[in-house]
Amino acid sequence: MSVNDEFGQRTAELIEAGRYIHDRGWAPATSGNFSARLSDGRIAITVSGRHKGELTADDVMLIDSEGRPLGGQRPSAETPLHTSLYRLYPTVEAVLHPHSPSATVVSRLFGDELALQDYELLKALQGIETHESRIVVPIFHNDQDIRRLAQRVEDYIGSHDDVYGYIIAGHGFYTWGTSIKEALRHVEALDFLFDIEIRLHGVVPR
Ligand SMILES: [Zn+2]
Repeated sequence: MSVNDEFGQRTAELIEAGRYIHDRGWAPATSGNFSARLSDGRIAITVSGRHKGELTADDVMLIDSEGRPLGGQRPSAETPLHTSLYRLYPTVEAVLHPHSPSATVVSRLFGDELALQDYELLKALQGIETHESRIVVPIFHNDQDIRRLAQRVEDYIGSHDDVYGYIIAGHGFYTWGTSIKEALRHVEALDFLFDIEIRLHGVVPR
């Protein structure tokens, strides 16, 4: 496949993922951003400020691995959070960032992290084969200085194994995968588990 075909293919998948995520109420009012890495290292990412339920091919653009725009449009303001994940994980090819109600409520209920264990749905996460697993989802304070936030995320992931996603407090969550499909599965699984933890604490998020 030529890189142009690949860009077109990834763009179509990101448009579909955006519709799916928006339809579930996980990316209201132009929030959220999504990306996919091409085989030449460039990254297809949503343009800043676009409605994620109504994305078209014009709403996905290319950046280089450092986040510099390749073309006239402005990429998502949170681009450094995407490029840092691609740097940390050479096999990751997609990063999805929804602003879901459950992730937001979890960040109000828990401190610096949420531990998830003994859930069958943990097996939806790449490489987990039993419900008897335990994962920790770190919760970072929100920060309008995205580079500083990206550095905090990098420091954490660089010193912890088996991180499948992270929450930004009062904001949303990030997860990733070796394909857009896998990253979307991680979005669904993590959001479900966040929702269960909220119910356990007696709060109804939606
Ligand atoms: Zn965001």
